[in-house]
Amino acid sequence: MVKQILVTNDDGFWAAGIVALAAALQDLGEVYVIAPDRERSACSHSVTVHEPLRVREVRLPDLPRPVLAVNGTPADCVKLAIDAIIPGGPELVVSGINLGANLGTDIFYSGTVAASLEGAFAGIPSVAISVTSEEVHDLSYAAFCARKLAGLVAVRGLPPGIALNVNVPNVPPEEVKGIEVTNLSWRRYIDAVHQRSDPRNRVYYWLAGKVTEVEPRPGSDLAAVLDGKISVTPLQLDLTATSFLPELKSWGLREELADPRQLSQIAASDGTGNQKG
Ligand code: MN
Repeated sequence: MVKQILVTNDDGFWAAGIVALAAALQDLGEVYVIAPDRERSACSHSVTVHEPLRVREVRLPDLPRPVLAVNGTPADCVKLAIDAIIPGGPELVVSGINLGANLGTDIFYSGTVAASLEGAFAGIPSVAISVTSEEVHDLSYAAFCARKLAGLVAVRGLPPGIALNVNVPNVPPEEVKGIEVTNLSWRRYIDAVHQRSDPRNRVYYWLAGKVTEVEPRPGSDLAAVLDGKISVTPLQLDLTATSFLPELKSWGLREELADPRQLSQIAASDGTGNQKG
């Protein structure tokens, strides 16, 4: 089994989701909770390189060991865990339990998912887990799912560079309709930018927006969750659009861009491709 497990999130070290997750994984290995010291939702994969990272020990009533609060992002926490804090590094990374779905294109913004991908970058089997509502009162079923999946991943491993993204519908356990292995959907947000005025009548903007549930692709994570099922999507680091490679190769980029004799033509133009008169 695994010896050392990193538990992190993007909701902050005190969040109910991470406490439930850490508690659920106690019997699987030695759990290190290393998480941002404030909410970092939607920080995606950003890292802190222009200021020092500081780590503070905090005791939480429901956990046997102190947690480590970091003034950085989820990706920072994973880097610190691997390279500085956990002796020999973690053998499993579990991120969550996030309050709010991370479905389809959401994963590009999600700090929860980024933490799992950072683990995968380092070749460590990693899982991100979310519940599909921001108003969750009982996390015990999602924590149970996390424990089961983490146990499976610990036994079976994951190929290097692959992480699991799990979404658990926010319904009572007896209403969950099953579990589906899925692919990523596209999510579109409408009304994404709200324009308002401050008390001095200056305009400001607030990124918000509602998801418009376009007809989800069959087999997608969104379709599974809308059906009341748990979704498990394997994510990979390779974003290469393999199906587009042949067409892009047919563009003749080598001829278009790599002829140094064209430099003189560019120098003579105004930079927009128009020749100077
Ligand atoms: Mn979050």
